[in-house]
Amino acid sequence: MSQPPFPAPGPDGDEPPGSGAGAGVGEAEHGAGPAATPADGADGNAAGPAGPAGTPAGDAAAAPAADDGDDDFDADADLARFLADVDAGLIPVPPQTPESAGMPSGPGVWFTLGEAADVDPAELAVMAGPAGLGGQVFASDRAADAMRPGPLLSILAEQAAEDPAALTDDELMGLVSAARRLQARAEWLELSGIAEFTRRRQAQHDTAVAGGVKPGRRPGEFADEELGFELVMRAQAAGDRMDMATALATRLPRTFAAMAAGMIDGGRACTIWYYTRFLSDEHAAQADKILAEAAPGLRQDQLEGKAYRLELKLDPEAVRARREHARATRRRVETRREPSGNLCYGARELSVEEGLAAKAANDADAAALRAAGMPGSLRELRVLAFLDRQAGRDPLDRIEHDRDGGHRYQGWDDEDEDDEGNNGGPGDGGPGHGCHPGPGGRAAAPLPALINLIVPGGPLFGWSTAPGEAGGWGLLDPNETRNIVQTASRHPRTRWCVTVTGPDGTAVAHGCARGQHPWIPPPTTTGTSGSAPPGNGPLATGPPGTGPPPGPDQYQAAQLAALLRALNVRLSPVASGTCDHRDREDRYTPSRRLGHLVRARTATCVAPGCAAQAYHCDLDHTIPYPDGPTCPCNLGPGCRRHHRVKQAPGWHLEQPQPGIMCWTTPSGRTYTTRPTIYDT
Ligand SMILES: [Zn+2]
Ligand SMILES: [Zn+2]
Ligand SMILES: [Zn+2]
Repeated sequence: MSQPPFPAPGPDGDEPPGSGAGAGVGEAEHGAGPAATPADGADGNAAGPAGPAGTPAGDAAAAPAADDGDDDFDADADLARFLADVDAGLIPVPPQTPESAGMPSGPGVWFTLGEAADVDPAELAVMAGPAGLGGQVFASDRAADAMRPGPLLSILAEQAAEDPAALTDDELMGLVSAARRLQARAEWLELSGIAEFTRRRQAQHDTAVAGGVKPGRRPGEFADEELGFELVMRAQAAGDRMDMATALATRLPRTFAAMAAGMIDGGRACTIWYYTRFLSDEHAAQADKILAEAAPGLRQDQLEGKAYRLELKLDPEAVRARREHARATRRRVETRREPSGNLCYGARELSVEEGLAAKAANDADAAALRAAGMPGSLRELRVLAFLDRQAGRDPLDRIEHDRDGGHRYQGWDDEDEDDEGNNGGPGDGGPGHGCHPGPGGRAAAPLPALINLIVPGGPLFGWSTAPGEAGGWGLLDPNETRNIVQTASRHPRTRWCVTVTGPDGTAVAHGCARGQHPWIPPPTTTGTSGSAPPGNGPLATGPPGTGPPPGPDQYQAAQLAALLRALNVRLSPVASGTCDHRDREDRYTPSRRLGHLVRARTATCVAPGCAAQAYHCDLDHTIPYPDGPTCPCNLGPGCRRHHRVKQAPGWHLEQPQPGIMCWTTPSGRTYTTRPTIYDT
């Protein structure tokens, strides 16, 4: 246990984030200050500042103390030498406070995680001091805030949790997030054990099969039961757990390592396993690389979307076969008990197209009822209309007054409270929302949409491999996309836009077509390859490829070029970096064109983790108008909820560059969101 080069009294130090990731507390280089960049702190492997004796601080958790060759290091002697050098003027005393030199305040005991790994945890806790090293080190960018999960973080967290009331908001959030990392680590421990258990039973079983042992008598045959007994779960669930553990330990190494480092929790790992189950080893390896990197920054449902898109891209045939199989075998009307004791009644395993059509019809009914003055929220009216239709009644018969006009559709923008807390999820987006009943208060089941073609800029008219997406509703395979785009393009309210993406996948230009452009899909050229336009706006897609990126064949490229010519779109650049205010407008409400530029840049609400589609969001002035201009550099899509959140006390939002949104929460923590990266 080395002693601190400096005692570290005083509050509010700044621990270099990097050291927190793998290096343990303290062990700062003399006077060197933070040696790691903030960005390094995130990956859990940042090389922190080296210790006085050159101890490699990074990755200490992965390579415990035994390897670091510093067993002979005499801290007392080193400190004495150091102090003598300081006294002799050989080493200038740094002008910074100890905190600014990168050491947290609190009890003056320092250890690397490498050292800590050899120490009895209880003893370590005592050494960390009765006052508790715990709390303060959990503040943003302090030692424990990004520390890898392990014995030391565990002790610090336990200590901090002994008196949560003593923690600041910031420290409290740090503690919560540390507990999450520990939890991810604990799942990794469990799955590591299960993977080994599975391997043993599998080997026994294989041997028995090879030896001609009959079913029912084979060792290892009921391994899932065995695990289920231990974990008190159904054998089927235990079997899934075994599959997942095996996949992580064998073909998803990056995801598994990220779990060990506390970056990916069990739920996200499960998602990655689920959407790679049917992929070849080679494809799974590609997916592992991409998803392990993305997962920590994505909400669970966003990760599911990304994983599914990727699966569709890597092996569309497998996905299609699975979906068709599910539709063929599991399609049903289901009645089941809700946890509350009420009943749930609905159809399962519909195609996206069928589901959206049904929803559009239901939305149209509900909108008509509301427009006619029927009391109740849209949420309630949807249920009413749904039940009427199920019972063979026309919900519009409830409308007493005249059917021929009179009541005008209010527009979904007036709706708000119904979908509270449900932003971006079902109920808050989707083509159905643009649907409104005709003059008779009745609408068929059309799919009016903003069809946004996402076109990779280099080469322009390249062919996107991204699968389509229907609002927030889910992903479509190319056939479905083609059908929906075709249907939607005939709807009078459907409009086309083109968003061109740059090499990094962000939008670099956008243009809006005028008027209606009914689209008839050209015949496909190769098998089931789609000829639908590419993109992932509310609707669009490219053809499946056998692997990314197949690129357009000549025929497809020609079709796309023809479509773009027909749309006659004039593209405007999307502002980034420094804004030249060329798109600034001297009014509060941005024009459609400006709105689309901003929404193309940022396709979802600018709040961290919010998936509300920008198409359904208001455009919020980051700095309120007229102090802040109506310009891409001061606008961002915000869902109703986050618009209110932003204005609440203690919350702050800045837009230092166009599309870069920096949120500060009442805890004092900051979060940054960036322009959308399109899957093209
Ligand atoms: Zn547009
Ligand atoms: Zn500007
Ligand atoms: Zn939002």
